[in-house]
This record gives sequence, structure tokens and C-alpha cells, in this order.
Amino acid sequence: MKKPTTKPSIYGLNKEELINWFIENGEKKFRATQVWEWLYEKRVSEFEQMTNLSKDLIAKLEEHFVVNPLKQLVVQEASDGTVKYLFELPDKLMIETVLMRQEYGMSVCVTTQVGCNIGCTFCASGLLRKQRDLTTGEIVAQIMLVQHYFDERGQGDRVSHVVVMGIGEPFDNYDNVMNFIQVINDPKGLAIGARHITVSTSGLARKIKEFANNGLQVNLAISLHAPNNEVRSSMMRINKSYPIEVLMEAIDEYIEKTNRRVTFEYIMLNNVNDRPHHAKELAALLEDKKKLAYVNLIPYNPVSEHDQYSRSDKADVLRFYDILKRNGINCVIRKEHGTDIDAACGQLRSKKMQEQKKQKQRA
Ligand code: SAH
Ligand code: SF4
Repeated sequence: MKKPTTKPSIYGLNKEELINWFIENGEKKFRATQVWEWLYEKRVSEFEQMTNLSKDLIAKLEEHFVVNPLKQLVVQEASDGTVKYLFELPDKLMIETVLMRQEYGMSVCVTTQVGCNIGCTFCASGLLRKQRDLTTGEIVAQIMLVQHYFDERGQGDRVSHVVVMGIGEPFDNYDNVMNFIQVINDPKGLAIGARHITVSTSGLARKIKEFANNGLQVNLAISLHAPNNEVRSSMMRINKSYPIEVLMEAIDEYIEKTNRRVTFEYIMLNNVNDRPHHAKELAALLEDKKKLAYVNLIPYNPVSEHDQYSRSDKADVLRFYDILKRNGINCVIRKEHGTDIDAACGQLRSKKMQEQKKQKQRA
């Protein structure tokens, strides 16, 4: 597995780790607090802009860390205000981040890995096996760069919501994702409330149980996408390791421990999982937890490499929704964002990689 090269980003340290670093390096604790404020309140992007630090301390920080590890390659703005960023990592790999303007605030979708090993058969990110996990700093930097984008525009906007739903399986990079949450949740920093953060998983049951014990009020979303093992296994290889009964057992444990609601994501695929009998089967599957289960019906973003799938007809989606509702299941049809700019997870990146490949072939 590849490792990130060059110096780590200081964004990768949570407050406690930053304080410890300062103490271990012979510096005063309050200096760490000052640096934290420069990073997350004043939001500078270079150490030399931290004007109340000595030259020596700035040099020491520069020797060990970079602030921002990402280079912005492409920014696309859609007609509905969705913004998509393509970033390059220090080792030249690429990732995507999406900003969605919602009625309730500014929501950012972050990437957690380069590629994804889960390999779902409908997903652009799963086309490439995982090249590496992102570091905590690289995940935090995605939020910081969007926040800098707002700061430059001077309208006082702030990232208020975060969804961990970009490229990658967050529970396959668990420690970095949890550390990322600690950094962005810090009340003296970005202060993004835990209830405004959602982590989506393809269903790593063991990690769901661990997540239940973390004590944070972070939301959990499960990519369910099918009401039975046969259909789910045809879409998601992970279902062979963690079949629906095992997944549901982990979710029951999560609900019992946290009493928090769980979102079930369900991509509507024409003739694959969108028939009335699928809706009835799904309602039966969620019957025992319907007070806390919320189903999100998601329009499929077609991926050219996965042409066996197409979007469900509108009428089929509405019929599916009605059946769930009639059975007392909370359900919404998800609004689409940025369909004119390849906003589906992994699409911009896979397009850019195809372009690069063609250029190489021509050269
Ligand atoms: N790996 C995690 C999180 C990233 S994917 C997971 O699978 O939950 C985030 C969400 O986007 C998942 O629900 C995933 O199933 C969905 N998704 C992937 N490809 C999609 C596509 N082409 N159209 C619509 N949703 C897609
Ligand atoms: Fe990975 Fe999620 Fe895509 Fe599946 S849907 S391949 S788990 S990113």
C-alpha cells in the first residue's frame, strides 16, 4: 500500500495532539492554542502569516509540517450552486470534494480514500482499487479549502454540515475518519456540530459496533440499496462478508446503545431493486426499527462503465415511496445536486484520469 510522501499536514493533529507536540518540542502549551486559532479561526494558509509567533517557532513548524497538503486542479460550479473540487495530493493522486448548498446550510461531502476496495458494481469510485487511505490532515484540508473558498468571497458563509460520502469506505480508514471528526468538531475551531456530521458506510458490521461506542452524536448512514441478500450481493460484494442479517444485528446494537436514528440509503435502479415486491420486502426488513429508520431513495447517477444499470422511472420511485409510507416507514426521495457537473461520487476524478491516460497514449 502506498504511503503519503513529504511532510504531514498540521491539520492532521487534533487539539490534544497539537498540544503534546508543542510540549515534546520544548514549546509552551499556549503557543499550540495560538496556532490552533490561526488555523481554524483566522484561517491563514501559511505558517509565516502567524504573526504572534517567533521566527524560530515558525521555522520549526515549517520544518515539520505543511499547512495545506492539497493542490486545487479543477473547480466546477453547477447551475444550482453545487461546487465540485478536484484536488491533487502530494503524491499526485487525485481526490474529489463536493460543496452542496442546502436550505439548512452549507454541506461538504469529503473523500476518505483514493479509490475503494469495496468495489460496488454501480459506483465510479469502486472502479479503481484503493491506492491508499487519506491521512487525517488530507481529510480536514478538504473542509478547510472549501471554507477558504467562502472566506475569499467574504459573504460570511461557513461549512455547517459534513457528509462522509465521497470516494472511499470511511470505516476502512476508521482512525483517520474519527480523528478528522474530532478536529472539525472542536468548539474553539470549525465547531461543526456532531449532529451535523454524517458518516456513510457500505456496512462493515464490526466497525458499526465500534462506532456505537464512540460517544459522539454523529449520524450514521447505511448503504443498504437492496432488501435481500440475493439483490444486495449482486450490487455489493461486501454483502458476502457481512450479509443483511449480520448488518442488521450490528445496526440493532448501534440503536440500542445510542438510541439514534439511522439513515438507509437506497439507490433506485431500474428493474434491479425498484419493484413493488422489493418495497414490501424492505418495509418488512425495517419493521422492527421503524421509529428510528429513515430511508433515503437516491436517484442513480449513471456511470458509463456500469451500463448494466439505469435510473428508475419517476413513477416507479413514487410507487416505491408510497408502499414504504403506507407501511409506516419514514422515507424521502433525495434531491439531486450538480447533475450538470459530474457530481456523483468519483465521476470527475475518473473523467480526469481518462483524459490523462489518453494524453499519455498520444505522447
Ligand atoms: N463507501 C461509503 C461512502 C461513500 S459512497 C458507502 O458506500 O456508503 C456514498 C453514497 O453514494 C453511497 O450510498 C453510495 O452507494 C452512493 N453512490 C455510489 N455511486 C453512486 C451513483 N452512481 N449514483 C448514486 N449514488 C451513488
Ligand atoms: Fe466504495 Fe461506497 Fe462506492 Fe461501494 S459505494 S465502491 S463502498 S465508495
